[in-house]
Amino acid sequence: MKNKPLFQQMTIVGVGLIGGSVARSLKKHHQCATIVGYSRNEKELKKALALGVIDSYSTDIKRAVQGSELILLSTPVGAYKAILDELKDNLSENTVITDVGSSKQSVINAAKAVFGYLPPTFVPGHPIAGTEKSGVDASIDNLFAQRCIILTPLPETNREAIDKVRAMWQAIGAEVVEMSPEHHDHVLAATSHLPHVLAFSLVNTLAQMNEHNEIFRFAAGGFRDFTRIASSDPTMWRDICIENKEAILELMQIYEKQLKVLEAAIQTGDADKILSLFSHARDARDEHVIQ
Ligand code: NAP
Repeated sequence: MKNKPLFQQMTIVGVGLIGGSVARSLKKHHQCATIVGYSRNEKELKKALALGVIDSYSTDIKRAVQGSELILLSTPVGAYKAILDELKDNLSENTVITDVGSSKQSVINAAKAVFGYLPPTFVPGHPIAGTEKSGVDASIDNLFAQRCIILTPLPETNREAIDKVRAMWQAIGAEVVEMSPEHHDHVLAATSHLPHVLAFSLVNTLAQMNEHNEIFRFAAGGFRDFTRIASSDPTMWRDICIENKEAILELMQIYEKQLKVLEAAIQTGDADKILSLFSHARDARDEHVIQ
């Protein structure tokens, strides 16, 4: 006999890659009886319905959240404030809100700007899983299996709400950790935001060169590996850069210094220095990055 699902009804605001993958995963594990979708584009919602990712939808957000125990925000983070503004008078006290946004302090600030405080049932979250693809077509039912989810509740966040969100992620195979929003933003700026900024910049650098057709034609595996993430959604990454500005700028400055050290070593033909820099990088990667 199947266990009772964790949720009778939830609403996914933004049924794209991440929102769609949460929906598919919950369905696969029978953890939500009814999933309602909301986004701006009805064609995409119809597609999500046809794919069986959601059970119903509305392009009216107030209707979409009616009767839902849990609301998952999974649009680009820059859209959150306007969405919460529309929602604020239509939430019951017990409705749990969570999100998947890649920056966390700005999400908390957006909620505070709307409500005047972070509602105790708002549990900010971020799955450390994804791809460079976008949209519901790219969503899959095992994206979060054995992946890490970071929750960044504040001291005033309701423990029951945190436990519900934690249970949702664990039910679809993820491991949940908690940390402060500041720490999250600092760590993610280094591990995710800086690499994306670098990949976008590298591709732009090459695309601006006169012989760019030839350059891209002869691009080998290394270029492909390094720049895969530059195929990510520009809107999403614009929002992340705006919303996590300080931490990203700090990391960019540190990176620029590193690049200058390498530039000087190449300039002066300092073979030992170049070898030492590359060896150090290779050892650090081999030690910390699981293949
Ligand atoms: P996506 O595939 O482009 O999906 C975004 C969804 O949000 C779409 O359904 C889109 O539909 C809707 N949307 C966009 N702007 C909106 C607005 N202003 N108002 C209402 N709905 C809007 O993006 P995603 O990759 O799933 O990313 C969603 C969130 O997950 C982002 O906050 C991102 O930071 C976070 N995240 C992404 C990854 C990743 O690898 N992609 C990983 C972890 C976390 P319409 O355009 O039809 O409205």
